[in-house]
Amino acid sequence: MTKVIHLSVECYPIAKVGGLADVVGALPKYQQKLGIDASVVMPWYDRPFLQQHQFEIAHQGSFYQGSELLDFQIYKEKENSLGFELYLIKIPGKLDRSEVYCYPDEGEQFIAFQHAFLQWLKDTDTIPDIIHCHDHHVGLIPFLVKHSKDFSFLSASKTVVTVHNGQYQGWMNWNKGILLPSFDTWKWGLLDWDGMINPLATAIKCCDAYTTVSEGYLEELYKAANGLESLFSNERQKSYGIVNGIDTEIWNPETDTSLTKNYSVKNVKTGKVANKKQLCKEYKLNPRLPLLTFIGRFATEKGADLLPEILHHIFKENEDKLSIFILGSGDQQIQSHIQKLAEPFSGELAVYFGYDENLAHRIYASADFILMPSRVEPCGLNQLYAMKYGTLPIVNNVGGLKDTVLDINDPNGYGVVFQKADVQDICYAVKRALDYFEQEDLQKKNQQRMMLLDFSWEKSAQKYLNLYSQLLK
Ligand code: ADP
Repeated sequence: MTKVIHLSVECYPIAKVGGLADVVGALPKYQQKLGIDASVVMPWYDRPFLQQHQFEIAHQGSFYQGSELLDFQIYKEKENSLGFELYLIKIPGKLDRSEVYCYPDEGEQFIAFQHAFLQWLKDTDTIPDIIHCHDHHVGLIPFLVKHSKDFSFLSASKTVVTVHNGQYQGWMNWNKGILLPSFDTWKWGLLDWDGMINPLATAIKCCDAYTTVSEGYLEELYKAANGLESLFSNERQKSYGIVNGIDTEIWNPETDTSLTKNYSVKNVKTGKVANKKQLCKEYKLNPRLPLLTFIGRFATEKGADLLPEILHHIFKENEDKLSIFILGSGDQQIQSHIQKLAEPFSGELAVYFGYDENLAHRIYASADFILMPSRVEPCGLNQLYAMKYGTLPIVNNVGGLKDTVLDINDPNGYGVVFQKADVQDICYAVKRALDYFEQEDLQKKNQQRMMLLDFSWEKSAQKYLNLYSQLLK
């Protein structure tokens, strides 16, 4: 049986910051269903999941990070409650914290995680067929597997790297290099990009294959990748675009326990109305108006900086025609601009600054439209979840949004697509969506069409399997 280990710093429901967690929490489960031995290895976090589930220590070991001797423990979840084997690496003082990102010693943390993982494989004579690395946090693995003498026993293992977001590359100063396991000094060049250690660049140089989370994003990376475009393009012979899917065990309006009322294609209208009514009551919005939402990180990548101006225009042009719900966190300046609008437009605009998984589910079910003014969108899960809940996506024509949303002007279309992350274009797109919404029959049929679209993980999980088989031939 093919043995695949997914390495990631996020995995739903243990630790989620964004889409990376959703993918790592779902893909291995669907791969298991397709008959391969897929497991997940992530850092240990001081999080509720750890208290709510039973773990056993599967291994203990130690290694030198520079001159410091680090002890590590491997915790294995006993019940396999997620549908795959889950292992957490704990390193007291380094990997034992509550947050995933933004510690000042983040670089050392990620290096330690990767080193402990390889040391564990070595101590236990484990040779996976595929080591599947997700994003730059584990981008040094393909280099260490191929070029560190300490881990030459892994020469038969293949490494696959999935780029969930090429904007972030994990840059580190050269002095961090001495923390890595030993390798021939002439190989330093593989770690370098523009005078810094760049784990994402290293991953792309050294892996056996790299994938992006949509085909559209892959094409974009060849042209614009925050300085790595020439690398992505030069290595394109080993690149693959595989779109993410929806984990229907978590995202399904028929069974979702967060909702006020569950619904299916058959009763989508009444189901959504019931959810919206309750949400609007709690957040003091008018439930009779169409509801538009934005859910996500306040980052320029997501076009969140445009939100204050967009909101202003939309309310000016559509007085008493719609309500808006913003759920997000991130850039403080964006947040305070949105906050300023919340008061004059109270009753029309509800905001929740922070992260709330349960609320997100309820909003997908209650909203009529979801706005995604992203400038960069590697795949985008929000539009997929929204459509599964019968919510019309209004999206910029980039990356995964381009691959998954077809404009209503197309005979088979179901969403609204605009061509530029620009306030005027976006407001026009919202107007088109509102006009469409007023045609009740069309709108109802469209809701059903969106809910029946097939963005299941089965198809995409199979594509990853095909890639593994090709590499293992
Ligand atoms: P990202 O680039 O942030 O990873 P994705 O579209 O791939 O974007 O995934 C975003 C995921 O995070 C979705 O599951 C979305 O529902 C969730 N999400 C984003 N912001 C919030 C929030 N403030 N509260 C709850 N869920 C959120």
